Amino acid sequence: MNKIKFDIKQVVRKNVLHLKPYSSARDEFTDFNRDMIFLDANENPNENGVNRYPDPQQRNLKTVLANQKKVSEKNILLGNGSDEVLDLIFRAFCEPAVDNIITLPPTYGMYKVLANINNIEEQEVQLNNNFQPDIESIFAHVNENTKILFICSPNNPSGNLVDPQSIGYILEYFTGVVVIDEAYIDFADDKSWVNSLSKYTNLIVTQTLSKAYGLAGVRLGICYASEEIIDVLNKIKPPYNINELTQKRALERIVEEDIIKKEIDTILKERTRLKETLSTIHFVKEIFHSDANFILVRVDDANKRYDQLISKGIVVRNRSTQPLCENTLRFTVGTKEENEKLINTLVLISKN
Ligand SMILES: *Cc1c(COP(=O)(O)O)cnc(C)c1O
Repeated sequence: MNKIKFDIKQVVRKNVLHLKPYSSARDEFTDFNRDMIFLDANENPNENGVNRYPDPQQRNLKTVLANQKKVSEKNILLGNGSDEVLDLIFRAFCEPAVDNIITLPPTYGMYKVLANINNIEEQEVQLNNNFQPDIESIFAHVNENTKILFICSPNNPSGNLVDPQSIGYILEYFTGVVVIDEAYIDFADDKSWVNSLSKYTNLIVTQTLSKAYGLAGVRLGICYASEEIIDVLNKIKPPYNINELTQKRALERIVEEDIIKKEIDTILKERTRLKETLSTIHFVKEIFHSDANFILVRVDDANKRYDQLISKGIVVRNRSTQPLCENTLRFTVGTKEENEKLINTLVLISKN
């Protein structure tokens, strides 16, 4: 096989390629620092903190993120959660009823949901028993209409990082775009693939403020890619997709780097402790390695244990219907108190 030369014009949908982005009032005049009178957007002029449209390009947020991740602002697109980012990627690259994508189950369910919504065929290439990609099988499924390959690393629900050598190989030989979903990267030891953007022009990395950053409620997803790809996504994003309250709250939070790091450290310590105590529960059959803030556990009877936990007021995720995940439960690492409650409850229900 020859290494690919990625040509975005071959991969983007034809109608998108020729689109001009909608130019909003706030795009046309951007110098907010000057003392201007804004009579251009039909807003209510009475100040209340949110009476103005938000910055459609979220410049302040992108400046901080670009600094932290050592990329240019031009390599960043923000979405209403990763879910919006992923949807924009579908709509930019996949022609409904014609193109297809590849996912690697067991994995995050939204790729399939978005494929169905957008009427894109989803080809599933199951991970191997170590939850690593089966490279040969992946490339056997690629055809000229295969536009996106989704890799979730660390993977949800298994929790492990995907082998960087496999990802490197896929990036070099896959002709479409490779999306690496790094929702859990802040809990892992490996470096982010954001550092490889200049090496691979077909790479898209998605991250989120919903997990380690503790802002699931504000909905902010981040997409890092080449300027070429970001330009295409910018053409189709709704102009004001990130509201003012989200931009403000996200900005306040992402500069609290020390606090976030401390919270991550605590969660990782708790993960270790939880793992150790789980191994003492007799109905726990297998504890999978985790590079994320959750642990996938195989039990004797997942439905039964799930119901028992619910009856004691603890909600976990039953992943048993996913391939390779028969009789598994996924435990998010909680606070020290919550984890203790979980363990005590597991001990209690293991007695009956
Ligand atoms: C939780 C999660 C996300 C986060 O999605 P948001 O829309 O940003 O909250 C993305 N990908 C995976 C694999 C996740 O588990």
